[in-house]
Amino acid sequence: MAPSAAPPAGVVDLRSDTVTRPTPAMRRAMAEADVGDDVYGEDPTVNALQERFAGLVGKDAALFVPSGTMANQLALLVLARRGTTVVAGRRQHVVIYENGAAAVNAGVQFHTLDDGDGTLDPTEVAWAVDAARHHHPTPSLVCVENTHMPAGGTVWPVDRLQAIAGLGLPVHLDGARLCNASVASGVPPADLAAPATTVASCLSKGLGAPVGSLLAGPADVIAEARGHRQRLGGGMRQAGVLAAAGLVALDTMIERLAEDHERARRLAAAVAERWPGAGAEPDQVATNVVLFEHPDPRALLAHLAGEGVLAGTIAPGIVRLVTHCDVDDEGVERAAKALAAAP
Ligand SMILES: *Cc1c(COP(=O)(O)O)cnc(C)c1O
Repeated sequence: MAPSAAPPAGVVDLRSDTVTRPTPAMRRAMAEADVGDDVYGEDPTVNALQERFAGLVGKDAALFVPSGTMANQLALLVLARRGTTVVAGRRQHVVIYENGAAAVNAGVQFHTLDDGDGTLDPTEVAWAVDAARHHHPTPSLVCVENTHMPAGGTVWPVDRLQAIAGLGLPVHLDGARLCNASVASGVPPADLAAPATTVASCLSKGLGAPVGSLLAGPADVIAEARGHRQRLGGGMRQAGVLAAAGLVALDTMIERLAEDHERARRLAAAVAERWPGAGAEPDQVATNVVLFEHPDPRALLAHLAGEGVLAGTIAPGIVRLVTHCDVDDEGVERAAKALAAAP
């Protein structure tokens, strides 16, 4: 039996854009990939992917890693000093969803700021820098997230990131969904990443690859990150079979993200119609994430699942729908109907 590139028949999975299956073109590229031992730096497909990504985001070098979490952790290990603080939005992935990794791996604590609109306020970052002269802990790095998932997949204005970078601290950009930000704003990834020292992106989300993320930055920073990757057990040997899918993702899956954004707006319209004022306004959906409040998410998710539509929650009372390449117009239609009939 041929492997299935499609999700299980009859299920519209909106829990996350991580649930995508590799496309037939990815599977072919994986089967035919040229490989070598990447810990020796000898996997030609990994090397090609790293060069491709570095070029895309306008940095000197890049490193292929198993996950976005590892990419973020490597940035902390290289750019932040032990015993200092990392300034970040309080709902960012690196703060909430990495199981305390920053403290365990890099020996840092977070100085968290409000990130209600998905961005950080440069004056609040400046305050954290200044406070170190008044016996507060010393910040050594700023982390930002673009798109910012918990704000609803919002996009950073480049000038705001420039203002933060201008404060003198290195900046790590968690761009797990940087290509979504780029397609939505029309700003090339390299321009979005220009103010940042390092930038991380996931191939395994909206871009549809099965596994992998990249960290890009200056050559010396990436060389050091490679050493930390080894220490964390992230050396992957003949990883070209994975990188091959990543190259297909970068070659063929970026422009189509616009379709996911359009479908997310349609879902938001269905949510806004069923629950006016719950926070899902179609004209405020910037990319592929729809968030809204619901008094009983458990009941809602059970109803949707009964209709073959899977959704998730990201916090108490907050429901999330995420569009991706395995959700088509028909799936959106089905989800919209299930939402209209929901408790
Ligand atoms: C998914 C995600 C990550 C981590 O990626 P994994 O591959 O799941 O470890 C990091 N940052 C953001 C913003 C994400 O959405």
